[in-house]
Amino acid sequence: MSTDKKVTLIGAGLVGSLLSMYLAKRGYQVSIFEKRADMRKAGYVGGRSINLALSHRGFNGLEAIGLAEEIRKVGIPMYGRVLHQANGDIQYQAYGKEGEAIYSVSRGGLNKKLMELADENPNIHITFEKNCIDVDIKNGICHFEDMQTHEKTTVNSDLILSADGAFSAARLALQTKSERFEYHQTYLDQGYKELTIPAGPNGTFLLEKEALHIWPRNKYMMIALPNLDGSFTCTLFFPFEGEVSFNALKTREQVTAFLTKDFPDVVALAPNVVDEYMANPNGSLVTVRAYPWSFEGKVGLLGDASHAIVPFFGQGMNAGFEDCFELGKLMDLHQDDWKTILSEFQISRKPNADAIADMALENFIEMRDKVADQKFLLRKKIEQKISKKYPENYISKYALVSFGTAPYKDALATGFKQDALFEKVLAIPSIEQNWDSPETETKIEHLLKEFGFING
Ligand SMILES: Cc1cc2nc3c(=O)[nH]c(=O)nc-3n(C[C@H](O)[C@H](O)[C@H](O)COP(=O)(O)OP(=O)(O)OC[C@H]3O[C@@H](n4cnc5c(N)ncnc54)[C@H](O)[C@@H]3O)c2cc1C
Repeated sequence: MSTDKKVTLIGAGLVGSLLSMYLAKRGYQVSIFEKRADMRKAGYVGGRSINLALSHRGFNGLEAIGLAEEIRKVGIPMYGRVLHQANGDIQYQAYGKEGEAIYSVSRGGLNKKLMELADENPNIHITFEKNCIDVDIKNGICHFEDMQTHEKTTVNSDLILSADGAFSAARLALQTKSERFEYHQTYLDQGYKELTIPAGPNGTFLLEKEALHIWPRNKYMMIALPNLDGSFTCTLFFPFEGEVSFNALKTREQVTAFLTKDFPDVVALAPNVVDEYMANPNGSLVTVRAYPWSFEGKVGLLGDASHAIVPFFGQGMNAGFEDCFELGKLMDLHQDDWKTILSEFQISRKPNADAIADMALENFIEMRDKVADQKFLLRKKIEQKISKKYPENYISKYALVSFGTAPYKDALATGFKQDALFEKVLAIPSIEQNWDSPETETKIEHLLKEFGFING
């Protein structure tokens, strides 16, 4: 590329805004083009979750621009999950070791903060309401349409980076204009709808504040994450079609009957929940797998543009921030050689993107279904005990994903090994009664040796 180090960046979402600062730090002049109006003035009109879970990989990405601690302060730590079972039982499962938490953060708040910092940087310029409608990948030309005037403009550059989300315009250009581009998109037959449990008197939290709440109901579930104002944003993950589904619940009466039967404690805390159900849109959940993520060192995809995943591991944004971190390392290694940077990036990152896509899909089953299963709850109890006893040797898949930076693909592989181990542990006769006994402990120790978790 030329020595004046100019980059066109499509999308000022979570990943694009952060990425711009990684680039500016390394001397690039970054021009960002964002489809939406400036959310700092127009307010955040997301259409996606109001809050999200930020974990270690995300903080690691933010740390490189010195933002991790500031965001941690405005996040709410969630140290574990509270399960609200159908029979009214409530159970708590810690996510990790003492002090380990994932953080509930405001999507709009985080995006605005990242944008604000990008805007303060003299090397970054953001233009709003410019919709990228096409990319000429061979000649490095982006075509934009103004969202207000519909005026069309073009921008030429040596390097185009695209962080324009799951329906990326640059990815579409790669798909239609390059050879042998792989593309795979799948929707879940479940969608989501956001609801609110408001704050109690004086901004008090009406549920346990420092936890992620789950109401598992087998074929569907509700979750809730806390907000700073004392409210909780609930998300109902629910089939689009079928006997009990978005499609089947048409009237206020049907919705009231359904919510009162399956989520009576939520209805008791959220007086407007039926109104909200009727008014709020249904979102869909897509997984996108694509490859390659670049073209001749001139065009590169990051974040959801290259790997959109379902939200059940709370990792989409975290993976996108990790993309920035990994790209930063390659920029330092290969300076301005973008052909090498983008090639190495996609080769190392793609297997990890696939792994977290798989784990996110699998975690849906765990959250809506398995967490109501006694065997599964027993496994969690035993797993906690093992993790505590062998903190260096046994780290659960959840902790590897959420509290560490080991490649996602390694976490997935370790998870398979842990599943195989637990098949044997849970087959120990009378394990339900004796899981905590010294004899069982010895048997588990043998199994840990057999599976190579500890030396024997
Ligand atoms: C219900 C739900 C809950 C989630 N919860 C979590 C969670 O708890 N933790 C987590 O880590 N992740 C979560 N995610 C995933 C997370 O939202 C995404 O991974 C993250 O937003 C990806 O960031 P991005 O910047 O790549 O894409 P986006 O956030 O989609 O941003 C893309 C940006 O590009 C702009 N843009 C789009 N098209 C164009 C165009 N043609 N021209 C110009 N600009 C364009 C958009 O306006 C937007 O600003 C969740 C997702 C959903 C749907």
